Amino acid sequence: MANVLTVKNLCKNYGSIRALNGVSFSVPAGTIFGILGPNGSGKTTMLGIITNILKPTEGEVKLFDEAPTAAHRRRMGTLLETPNFYHYLSAVKNLEIAAAIKAIETPDIEGVLKKVNLWQRKDSKFQTFSLGMKQRLAIASCLLGNPDVMFFDEPTNGLDPVGIAEIRGLIKGLARDGKTVIMASHMLDEVEKVCTHVAILKKGELIAAGAVDEILVNDDVVEVGADDLAALKLQLQRMPQNTGVFDGDAGRLTIHFAPGTASLGAVNQFCFQQGTVLTHLQLKKKSLETKFIELTN
Ligand code: ADP
Ligand code: MG
Repeated sequence: MANVLTVKNLCKNYGSIRALNGVSFSVPAGTIFGILGPNGSGKTTMLGIITNILKPTEGEVKLFDEAPTAAHRRRMGTLLETPNFYHYLSAVKNLEIAAAIKAIETPDIEGVLKKVNLWQRKDSKFQTFSLGMKQRLAIASCLLGNPDVMFFDEPTNGLDPVGIAEIRGLIKGLARDGKTVIMASHMLDEVEKVCTHVAILKKGELIAAGAVDEILVNDDVVEVGADDLAALKLQLQRMPQNTGVFDGDAGRLTIHFAPGTASLGAVNQFCFQQGTVLTHLQLKKKSLETKFIELTN
């Protein structure tokens, strides 16, 4: 699969603030790629550099595996902040103006309004739209040039649950149409639900990147206790099936296993064979939330 985007060693300073510190990753074509991180982690800065609004302090951006050109840029659609539509004009009129500004000669206004499910409201004034509808109109505007790659910065921010569901559905639909979507989000569950791939940022540093089902795995966790915890830990570290042994709460250890592979019987038997009698044995599921906090703390 070809890459639509590669960033290499991106760094960005705002005065003394280091907003990005040596970030590198690639976005394969056809993915929904999430840039995930808490507020202030550098997501908007990253999108700004990729879309040529900001200059990096260091590093390079490649589009479609080449140095960026104007022709590449025409294949990109961006929605980085709520755009300025005219409040007193209709959806159609606003898109006509947007198309004129972008110098798109034969914009398919009907097509893009249908795509975002606003065709029925095409003659309504922008000011009568809900926040979700305004955001959908912004996506329609983004679609006018029929881009191959779309950039969205926190596309569901401020929306109600229905609006959020609509936007998420719309983004998945765009990917089914063959578009690559790159979206910033601070919401783990959003990335988990919507994205196929993810890059996780923490204070301007990349801490993980790859397929969502590899990065955000929901490990099985078994909690155990014994009189001699240190001896138990050494024994468990020799147990072949697990993926890690960690100190847990108050005199307990947690053993991690790949999703769906933990067996309490196997743990109990292994420990007994090693000469340890467990005083506590419990299966716990680790939430993605825990994983995210682990990754970003
Ligand atoms: P995010 O989108 O993940 O919330 P940003 O890219 O907006 O993160 O910000 C990353 C860091 O850079 C933050 O510490 C922020 O305060 C700082 N920053 C962003 N824009 C500017 C700016 N124009 N001037 C100074 N600092 C900025
Ligand atoms: Mg931001």
